[in-house]
Amino acid sequence: AAVEGFDVEDVEGAIEAAGHGPLPVLAVVGRPNVGKSTLVNRIIGRREAVVEDKPGVTRDRVTYEAEWAGRRFKLVDTGGWEQDVLGIDASVAAQAEYAIEAADAVVFVVDAKVGATDTDEAVVRLLRKAGKPVVLAANKVDGLSGEADASALWSLGLGEPHPVSALHGRGTGDMLDAVLEALPEAPEQTFGTAVGGPRRIALIGRPNVGKSSLLNKVAGEDRVVVNEIAGTTRDPVDELIELGGVTWKFVDTAGIRKRVHLQQGADYYASLRTAAAVEKAEVAVILIDASESISVQDQRIVTMAVDAGRAIVLAFNKWDTLDEERRYYLERDIETELAQVAWAPRVNVSARTGRHMEKLVPAIETALAGWETRVPTGRLNAFLGELVSAHPHPVRGGKQPRILFGTQAGTKPPRFVLFASGFIEAGYRRFIERRLREEFAFEGTPIHISVRVRE
Ligand code: GDP
Ligand code: GDP
Repeated sequence: AAVEGFDVEDVEGAIEAAGHGPLPVLAVVGRPNVGKSTLVNRIIGRREAVVEDKPGVTRDRVTYEAEWAGRRFKLVDTGGWEQDVLGIDASVAAQAEYAIEAADAVVFVVDAKVGATDTDEAVVRLLRKAGKPVVLAANKVDGLSGEADASALWSLGLGEPHPVSALHGRGTGDMLDAVLEALPEAPEQTFGTAVGGPRRIALIGRPNVGKSSLLNKVAGEDRVVVNEIAGTTRDPVDELIELGGVTWKFVDTAGIRKRVHLQQGADYYASLRTAAAVEKAEVAVILIDASESISVQDQRIVTMAVDAGRAIVLAFNKWDTLDEERRYYLERDIETELAQVAWAPRVNVSARTGRHMEKLVPAIETALAGWETRVPTGRLNAFLGELVSAHPHPVRGGKQPRILFGTQAGTKPPRFVLFASGFIEAGYRRFIERRLREEFAFEGTPIHISVRVRE
């Protein structure tokens, strides 16, 4: 495509960069203190403080976007562990399990100076069961003298140990090359197996909002448990449920049914689990307790699903408990606290009475339809042309930036690239987003708009 004042390569490059769908997921697992967070920091190439020396620090953020050799992927960091919650082996295992489940490939980090411990062996067993590609990182090999320690890790039976120093960067490039070989181009776990198969739903929300009650209500007796890892004694995690004549896959239902009640550290596990479920799903049904105020935790869960770029449905549960006054305040609360997802379809349900259960599937279908919509370039530019002439960008410093051309580079969620003759202000970008949503029915999906400005 030729755009006035842009090099053809720039235009093509911008479209390609924006055009990716869901990214493959790489999980970084291992015992505490082996250097997982240091490695994640190095891979994402930012000095953003992922590493915290204080044990027991709860982190909200567990997934990051990264790029190596021109390929983009998501990283799941499991460094935010808490020592005294479950005992070391159990907590490492629980974390690794969530992360491995959501991942397309795994980097298993071992401290080469210490060598393989029993806890490491326990993780190796989990990795074997999961059967996902694994790259073994022998960390803390800061110099040549450590190479022998790395070689000793052949004994883990996971293939070649890659000697790295997460701290200094030694060997990390070679290791990442191996990672890219192991990592599928598209997220196999989530979408490869799902092509033509059942759509995947993550039912998420903070504890006690009614996730398991809702699942029981909608599923009735006809629950089919899917154990994707044949021949293991692991808990089944995904379930096939028929709703509205269609079979859906609810991911991570084990987490819904069998909640581990943890005092301390529950937040981190909950975050990790929610992030993992969201990564595995195409659509997130976010359950919110309508009988209570919308909390920071609710908002974090919403943000997680938005950032992951999933289709979103908001379900306000426990509607049976609401009186008129509460309903009034809830509406105000939603307007202010959930403004970031004002576009999401909303259902007001009661898992207890069964109220509006039949509205759930249409809402999910609407959200998925928006998520997958592709606007033809001709239609998009006709719309942009009209919009821009009816509502031009304000004049700044004697100049009036114009949108020259736009194209949708990708779907799931929709991603647009706009080419402009000058800097487009945030307010105007929001205006365009709002009008795009109205015009093309992007209900229930985040949309990404990137703007390229002519030099
Ligand atoms: P995590 O608990 O696995 O996430 O481990 P951290 O990334 O927090 O690292 C634990 C400690 O090991 C920190 O003090 C790091 O500075 C240190 N560390 C991490 N990577 C290396 C490395 O490659 N070499 C050395 N010498 N120390 C490292
Ligand atoms: P989860 O932690 O999100 O899985 O929540 P649960 O399904 O375990 O529900 C937490 C509590 O809320 C339980 O006592 C449920 O009986 C109650 N509950 C769930 N849904 C409803 C509802 O629609 N109305 C009312 N009144 N209570 C509900």
